[in-house]
Amino acid sequence: MHYISTRGAAPTLGFDEVTLAGLAEDGGLYVPQSWPTLTHERMRALRESSYAELALEIIATFTGPAPGREALAPLVARALERFDHAAVAPLVQLDDGLWFMELFHGPTYAFKDHALQFLGPLFDHLLTARRARCTIVGATSGDTGSAAIEACRGLERIDLFMLHPAGRVSPVQRRQMTTVHAPNIHNIALEGTFDDCQAVVKALFADTAFRRRHALSAVNSINWARIVAQVVYYFRAALALGAPDREVAFAVPTGNFGNVFAGYVARRMGLPVSRLVIGSNTNDILTRFFETGTMAVEPVVATLSPSMDIQVSSNFERLLFELLDRDAAALGELMRAFAETGAFTAPPKVLRRARALFAARRLDDEETCAQIRATFESSGQLVDPHSAIGIAAAQAGGCPSPLVALGTAHPAKFNEAIERALGRPAPMPAPLQALFDIEERFVTLANDVAAVKELIDARLQDKIAAA
Ligand SMILES: *Cc1c(COP(=O)(O)O)cnc(C)c1O
Repeated sequence: MHYISTRGAAPTLGFDEVTLAGLAEDGGLYVPQSWPTLTHERMRALRESSYAELALEIIATFTGPAPGREALAPLVARALERFDHAAVAPLVQLDDGLWFMELFHGPTYAFKDHALQFLGPLFDHLLTARRARCTIVGATSGDTGSAAIEACRGLERIDLFMLHPAGRVSPVQRRQMTTVHAPNIHNIALEGTFDDCQAVVKALFADTAFRRRHALSAVNSINWARIVAQVVYYFRAALALGAPDREVAFAVPTGNFGNVFAGYVARRMGLPVSRLVIGSNTNDILTRFFETGTMAVEPVVATLSPSMDIQVSSNFERLLFELLDRDAAALGELMRAFAETGAFTAPPKVLRRARALFAARRLDDEETCAQIRATFESSGQLVDPHSAIGIAAAQAGGCPSPLVALGTAHPAKFNEAIERALGRPAPMPAPLQALFDIEERFVTLANDVAAVKELIDARLQDKIAAA
């Protein structure tokens, strides 16, 4: 399986190289050279499979020989080991025609574990084959950081430096990161905002000598291997509800467009996905795009669904590339305009095609709380604010059924919203409660690239000398 860049000017690479590279050299994102498909017969056979068997089948379709099926099987098994539900991603019926898929049974109680629990072992495998090590740096406003840390803890060939904005992530989210005491995990609380954290990470990558010295790498949501692992649960849900002999719609709360893009990939593979409904909070850049055809950045506002407090949805570039019939030059022009002016307008053909499959809705905090209440009262299911936004988008009308709303986080991770909606918090799972008794480890640094570089150099001094 070969991968090409959406900007058309980077070398064609294999799955293994694409995983380690993250972003393409030309600034684009990697996508398969052609979309693999599964026949209806094969899909019907997969209805009887376990989650692990299905995951292996889907992921192997994208890896080709590197890694091949035999090497991949133990990696997939390891990825699912730490999920605490026998079904991995159980499907719960909420209403007539409406289902809820719980994607938060991994170690950090958010759906990002589905991608990162696979990515950690995959990185380890690829680095071992190359007798190499790497330094992963990332910025987080919450869920990504803890999921990456849980995925990489104790891996000998990886050091992970995770930056979070000091005092601006929830206590549960901070403790999920800072209570992991593995020697390869390094938490930095940066005195600044999430955007400052991202700017520091960008500056580290921009320093070529530093990047090479530490073999810098990233596991952010543009990494193709993350998307692949997320395709699996779309198949799982749709097959359970009668696909490929019946169409199924999905509702997805969206920030970086990674999760919902995996649904698009499933459709390109032949899964009959009738509709993808996107839910956004007040940071509604995507919803405005589907309404107007113009993508225009506005300042980020803080909401009760912080994992979607994003204005630039990186993975949207992959969809645009497809809707432009893979015209890399045309895409490059739109992305240049976006970088320079903060806005672009898609050609009418692109908007028409986008609307044929996607619908989008926005909810403010008040509407989000009302949906948490309504879902709890009608079905007894307590949902987190992100998931509530997806459910509301699904119910806004005009949606075909059956429809699956994706549950992206455990409600106890976002108890501020639950308390506001119901007057009391969600019960805390024991492992989350236990975090409050573990000593925290992190260093606080000024919002200064040099200070972060100095820390990384100091912590990795011995490893660099040994290499
Ligand atoms: C990351 C996240 C999202 C947004 O997912 P994207 O793939 O960025 O669209 C939604 N809900 C929760 C709980 C998340 O952690």
